Amino acid sequence: MIPFNVPPCVGTETKYINDAIAKRKICGDGEYTKKCNAWFEEQTGASKVLLTTSCTHATEMAALLCDIQPGDEVIMPSFTFVSTADAFVLRGATVVFVDVRPDTMNIDETKIEAAITDKTVAIVPVHYAGVACEMDTIMDIAKRHNLKVVEDAAQGVMSKYKGKALGTIGDFGAFSFHETKNYSMGEGGAILIKDEKDVELAEIIREKGTNRAKFFRGQIDKYTWVEAGSSYLPSELNAAYLYGQLEQADKIFEDRMNSWNKYYNAFADLAEAGKVELPVIPEGCEHNAHMFYLKCKDIEERSALIKYAKENDILMVFHYIPLHTAPAGKKYGRFSGEDVYTTKESERLVRLPLYYGLTDEDHAKVVRVIKEFYS
Ligand SMILES: *Cc1c(COP(=O)(O)O)cnc(C)c1O
Repeated sequence: MIPFNVPPCVGTETKYINDAIAKRKICGDGEYTKKCNAWFEEQTGASKVLLTTSCTHATEMAALLCDIQPGDEVIMPSFTFVSTADAFVLRGATVVFVDVRPDTMNIDETKIEAAITDKTVAIVPVHYAGVACEMDTIMDIAKRHNLKVVEDAAQGVMSKYKGKALGTIGDFGAFSFHETKNYSMGEGGAILIKDEKDVELAEIIREKGTNRAKFFRGQIDKYTWVEAGSSYLPSELNAAYLYGQLEQADKIFEDRMNSWNKYYNAFADLAEAGKVELPVIPEGCEHNAHMFYLKCKDIEERSALIKYAKENDILMVFHYIPLHTAPAGKKYGRFSGEDVYTTKESERLVRLPLYYGLTDEDHAKVVRVIKEFYS
């Protein structure tokens, strides 16, 4: 069976994990966590990057840092992972869903303004497949309406928008290092902080509401409980795993990009013939080959394709069921305007196997089987 995903492993992870164990430093914020934070600060240009236990938790931290209150409204696409909404719903916010653009499956920036009310406090763009949302427009809307922007860049590690790293454009960004993402630590994530003034509170929230980070830097002589917080710092063992991958980040990136480009070129003729649609990368967006998807004619054709692939030992999968159609989505959210594309396009989308180390042979088989299906 050709799997849909294989968690990345470059070979140096165990060396670093063993080193952390040998040094008897396995709780959070040791050498490896600091190395990962610094690596991302260097790579993205964010004021501060802090590893977290997940992207879900990084987004929860962002919701706390935005001081989301019960009754506040937060705008996001319905075509996203549940965590994007959960983080704000936990703070008592109402989620206001906006339709996606059919080309990128990202929030339709032209429909955001109509969703703004006097209760709106934040916009949460999700960079689907590591392809950037139209951030200039989104930041302009946020500025004019005095709204916070939290980027769900779970899939956007190493992607750029007009030269800027995803996750660094809004007030806060959230990365994921779940095993399904480009770079992994099993479970884990990071929060990216744009403004220096938000760093201190972020460190406090992440460390159970204490000013422990300041204490360890020797800036105060004892630490205490100063705010409401939680425990969002990951173990050094997870950070050590991630650090091994960051050292070889370019290798992982190029390997994925090579597979992505080969898929894109291989299906050009099917797209030309109008049988499938290929992903669109708008000008100014540099993606990270997080995902390769095709769009079939409709849900029936997609089901048949997934079935045919499975019969040929290939696992292909669809993606999000739009949140506004889910029980919790109905309870905690509402859709602004009309669902023109969210449901229709999500029903046509199918994701192909794509992971670090996908062999040429397996790649060729996926292409061959899909071409067979359409011939
Ligand atoms: C993976 C993902 C998340 C959640 O990441 P975790 O690290 O598993 O919490 C959130 N949003 C999007 C868009 C994702 O793809």
